[in-house]
Amino acid sequence: MGYGPIIVRLGCRFVVWLFVLLQIGVAAGGAPEGYARYWPHIRLMFPEATAVGATEGTPASAAVLGPDGVLGYVLLTDDVLRIPAYSGKPIDSLVGFDIQGVIRGVRIVAHKEPILMVGVSEGDLARYTRQYHGLRVGDDIRVGGPAGSGRDVIDGISGATITVMVINRVVTEAVRRVAAARGLLVGNGNEQHVVSTEPLWTKLWLDRVWDLVILGLGLATLLLILMVQDWLAGNPTLLQRLRTAYLVYTLLFIGVYGMAQLSVINVFTFLNALLRDFRWEGFLLDPMIFLLWGFVAFTVLLWGRGVYCGWLCPFGALQELLFRVGRRLGLPEWEPPAVVHERLWAIKYVLLLGLFGLSLQSLGAVEQAVEIEPFKTVFALRLMREWPYVAYAVTLLAVGLLVRKCYCRYLCPLGAALTFPGRFRIFDWLRRRKECGRPCQICARECEVRAIRPTGEIIENECHYCLDCQVSYWDAYKCPPLVEQRRKAQRRTRISGDSSV
Ligand code: SF4
Ligand code: SF4
Repeated sequence: MGYGPIIVRLGCRFVVWLFVLLQIGVAAGGAPEGYARYWPHIRLMFPEATAVGATEGTPASAAVLGPDGVLGYVLLTDDVLRIPAYSGKPIDSLVGFDIQGVIRGVRIVAHKEPILMVGVSEGDLARYTRQYHGLRVGDDIRVGGPAGSGRDVIDGISGATITVMVINRVVTEAVRRVAAARGLLVGNGNEQHVVSTEPLWTKLWLDRVWDLVILGLGLATLLLILMVQDWLAGNPTLLQRLRTAYLVYTLLFIGVYGMAQLSVINVFTFLNALLRDFRWEGFLLDPMIFLLWGFVAFTVLLWGRGVYCGWLCPFGALQELLFRVGRRLGLPEWEPPAVVHERLWAIKYVLLLGLFGLSLQSLGAVEQAVEIEPFKTVFALRLMREWPYVAYAVTLLAVGLLVRKCYCRYLCPLGAALTFPGRFRIFDWLRRRKECGRPCQICARECEVRAIRPTGEIIENECHYCLDCQVSYWDAYKCPPLVEQRRKAQRRTRISGDSSV
């Protein structure tokens, strides 16, 4: 027998032994079990701690031990209660409190929240969780709002309001449950807040009841405008004032105050939830966004995407108002040539498809890419973030001063997404005449987003429902067929007047 087979056999044995040794090594030096794996965080919460006990009790927690006995307890919120946050998944936090019922620290250890992956820095998160340090278990701890007797108010994180409210609810409820189970809430004066079973979303809806009333009134007004659009188109001054006022309402109330700018990420989150573990709770957490999406779903099916893009989108309203300011300031207006304009439309659909592909992989990945939307920078973070994001948003707005609604027309993946359900729209209330496009081009020239073909047809996918073309349609001094009819009528009146004389 040659040396070859011997070498091969020895090599195989070496590999097997190496594998066995590695297994033993992993078993011996693997991650510690239970709360011991969070030991560095526990030491930060309890510098005097010497060990952490076993996980025990219902709800589960572990005692933190010091030289003189039990110092306090640590718990993982996921072991106590699981409230789905914006991502539809709970946020798991490690919380420690001492035997006097004082919270020693909160540390987020696992989450799937898109907003925490992008847009909120570790520093912001640490600043937020530090606020719990020193508060008492059982205290009425609220995020934002007025401080009151027996109430501790902590600051939220700009742009992550809902996520932070879920964290607060879970942390405060979880420590209360564990402290009650360990007999620490009895007699410390905080028993009056024992444990709430009310879903978080109902509280959030009640907290924002007046915002919802104002939003509801705004949406009802818009429905009324749509119902009487022909009459309004015949009263252009009134329509113009109403539309400007509505755009200001959309920008200031829905966008700046309510931070209820819809995003294409909402679409992906919804689709993702449908494919996995659909629960309404996650969507109900932001009542204004929920109500707006409900209204948009209804209007898209009846009128197409234009109702949202032309009236309810805060970024669309901002661009439109800025463009008008630009005209007042005498800035030039630039329009790409027709053939380029139509090619550029494709960009938003390509972006949408790319984002959709990413969303199938993970919502975290798509959240990063969704920064193509400047919405979060402008409304949620109010331009207070890293300069590249701010520069991007400001550039889009600056371009929008010269090219009307440039972002909407060519880049917006949300606008592109809304065109798909819009294909099933029921009403076609934008009126056209047989002369539209052949030869008249007045509406086509005036359309704010150039959504009218030279042949006269309205391209519904691109229309923003501004009603400008309807104003021209009813204008007897502008629309050529009407001008002709009016002149004929005047001639007839003159002739009948002459003959009667
Ligand atoms: S296209 Fe996009 S940014 Fe423009 S109005 Fe529609 S949703 Fe808003
Ligand atoms: S002018 Fe007419 S076609 Fe153009 S966006 Fe306005 S409503 Fe739509």
